[in-house]
Parts: sequence; C-alpha cells; structure tokens
Amino acid sequence: MTTSLEQGINTLKAAIDAPTASYFSSCVHCGICAYACIFYTETGEAKYTPMNRLEPMKRLWEQEYTVLGRLKKLIGLSKAITQADMEAAVELNFESCTTCGRCSMICPVGNDIVYMIKKMRGALTAAGLAPPELKGAAVRAIEKGSVMGFPMETLAAQVRAAEKETGIKINIDEPNVDYMLLLSSAEVVQFDEIIGSLAKIFKQAGVTWTFSSKAHEAANPGMHMGAKDIEAQQIEQMVAAAEELKVKNVISPECGHAYMAIRWDGPNVIGRPYPFKVFHIIEVLDQLREQGKLKTNACCTEEPITFHDPCQAARRGGVNQPQRNLLNMMSSNFVEMKQHSACNWCCGGGGGVGSLEKTEELRKRIFHRKKRQIDELGVNTVVTMCATCRNTLEEGLENNSMDVNVIGLTEAVANHLLKENES
Ligand code: SF4
Ligand code: SF4
Repeated sequence: MTTSLEQGINTLKAAIDAPTASYFSSCVHCGICAYACIFYTETGEAKYTPMNRLEPMKRLWEQEYTVLGRLKKLIGLSKAITQADMEAAVELNFESCTTCGRCSMICPVGNDIVYMIKKMRGALTAAGLAPPELKGAAVRAIEKGSVMGFPMETLAAQVRAAEKETGIKINIDEPNVDYMLLLSSAEVVQFDEIIGSLAKIFKQAGVTWTFSSKAHEAANPGMHMGAKDIEAQQIEQMVAAAEELKVKNVISPECGHAYMAIRWDGPNVIGRPYPFKVFHIIEVLDQLREQGKLKTNACCTEEPITFHDPCQAARRGGVNQPQRNLLNMMSSNFVEMKQHSACNWCCGGGGGVGSLEKTEELRKRIFHRKKRQIDELGVNTVVTMCATCRNTLEEGLENNSMDVNVIGLTEAVANHLLKENES
C-alpha cells in the first residue's frame, strides 16, 4: 500500500518538468529573490528565502536527474526525503508564502519560483499535509459553492436587501445578459455593499447583468492547495453556469486569487477554452469609463488617497492601469505608494496565508512593510480591489492603531457617481 509520504514524493517527482529542471539548473544563487520576499525582508530569517522553500524538490531533482546528485545519493551524502522534511515544507510553502510572485518577477535569470512553490503545495496536499483550513474551504466550495459556506440563499437575501436600499432590480439567473457576476465569500456577507454599488454603476452605464444560482463565488482554494483536480472542479461549475445563461462575459470579483484562477489558470486546468470572456470587475469599470458610460465627480475628494495593488490581479494578472484610470477620474489627489503596480509589496494575507490561524503572529511582523508604505504618504484612505487584501489591511491597521480607512474600488466609484441631475 502506498503511504501518504510516498504519494507526496511521487507527486513531487512527477512535478519536476522541463521548466522546473531548467529553473534549478539556471539558478546562480545570487540571492536577489530573497530581497523581494516580504517574509525574508521583514524577519531576516534565512529559512524564508524563496529558493529554500523548494529544498525537498531540489534534492529530488538532483538525485534523479543530475550525475552529482546521483553520486551523492549513492555514497549517502544526499538523504531520502522524510516525513519531517515534508512537514517543514508546509510552513515554508503554505504558511509563509502568499504566492505573490515578487521573487519570480525579480529573478535575473527568469526563474518562476511561484510555479515551483505551487508544485510543492500540490505534493504536500497529495501527502495529506495541506492545512486543514484550506481543505475545509475546498470542501465548502465544491459542496456549497462558497469558500466560507454561504449558500445561494444567503446571497439571495443580500440581493433583496440591496434592491430595497437602491430601488434597483438585481437579476438572478437572467439569460443572455451582458455579464454574469461572481463574488468572493467576503463580498457576500462582510463587504456586501459591493452588490448595491454595482447595481448603481451598471444602471448608470446601461449594461445588463445577473448572478447565477449555480455558481456565485469565484475564490478557489484548490488553486491555493496546488490541487489541479479541485481547482478544475470549481472552474467547471462556473463555466457550466455561464454556459447555461449564455453570457458573453463573466466578471471576476474584487479578489486577486479568484482572478488568477478563473482568468488565467481556468482554461488550462479544464483543458479547453471558454466560450465567454473573463474580466476583473475593475477592468469592466474602466471599459465603461473609456466608453463614456461612467460619470463620476472628482471634486469631492481632495484628501490624498492611495492604492494597494493585489499581487494576483496586478503583478501576476496584469491589471495595473484600469484602477489608476478610475482613481484619477474620481480623485484630484491620488498618490502612489513608492513601490506600486507590478512592484507593489504584498499585504501578507494572500495565497491562503490569511486564512491560517497559526500565521497570525508572522502576519503581524510582516505587515510592517505595508505600514511603512502607508505612513510615508500620510494618507487617511487606502483603496484596494481584493477582499482578502482589504481584510488583511484592516487587520494590520487595527493592530498598529493606525487611523486609516480601507475601501474597495468598486464601492469608491459608486460613491462618486454623478447623480441624475448633475452633469
Ligand atoms: S511568492 Fe512572494 S511570498 Fe512567496 S517566496 Fe516569492 S516573494 Fe516570498
Ligand atoms: S534570484 Fe533567481 S538566480 Fe538568484 S537566487 Fe533567486 S532564483 Fe536563483
């Protein structure tokens, strides 16, 4: 019978493909990636350097595919991977890496370190070592369509509340409309103002949209676990819902990882192209701006505001300009953090890290980078476009007694919409 450890090692072996082999062999050990990683820069602990996270995988690659590694294994200088090695890798790949991609971006020889970290996560999941919080989230996502376990009935109640507040009808299961909207779990209950905000924006822009009762959330714990089968199952649910409603466009919510999963990973993990397009909600709002369908009032925001770019949407997903176009449209005093857009520093809560209880202390330590970024601007408002970032920012600001307001960009746009009698 194959043990969990053997399953994990076999998965790791199978994961060593041509890109992985080329990344290991082309690494020049310059250490530059370490200075891109918030977990290393804020703690100074060598174990958090990006390439160190991949030690079991690298050892396996050497033992299987290099002459020197085989020789070292033969004379006992390179040991077999143990359960303890795999358990140590859980901390380094799940608990202290947000898959933010800053290391991959900075590597001078082009090594995609996140590509390998995801493979490490997949092997650890196969070995039965994925964090219980992520496993639970995956079960809820598959069974209830919601990472936090909020069924469609919860969203339907929120929709009714938003209709009452705005006086605007919001569709569920309306076919042939312009957009099908997906949310993140946090937006269903915690940041639910996004529902009424979008109703107002889309009404002003004259576009049609709907929720689907078959798929209402887009966050994807399967992707965090490196488990392509689970990731694919969730994507298939969303694709089936969009196909049934015959929509041309699907909107990914203010959630960085959801965007990475449905926009970029999705067609690859299910093995076929979608019959519709996928946009981040902020891309859609910027398209409406460009078409002259979005009218906002910039005069009322003279206080400086800044923007936190979510890693998966901005650095890894390529959505960098739309948010800036929108911010400049509604604010006369938008100021950039020193490192922003693709270079932005991670909030420290993505990649599933924020959902793991045991990461609390580490997250407090690494938030100091974001604190310094905000402090040096002297702003009272930070806008973002990811519910996980928003939660992490709110928690970090609270822990540091900082009197700074965090707001989602969609909500900010809705707050600045011109009223019907304004021009
Ligand atoms: S992906 Fe981000 S958090 Fe993970 S090792 Fe690279 S820089 Fe560090
Ligand atoms: S930056 Fe690239 S080459 Fe340098 S140590 Fe990191 S992975 Fe290796």
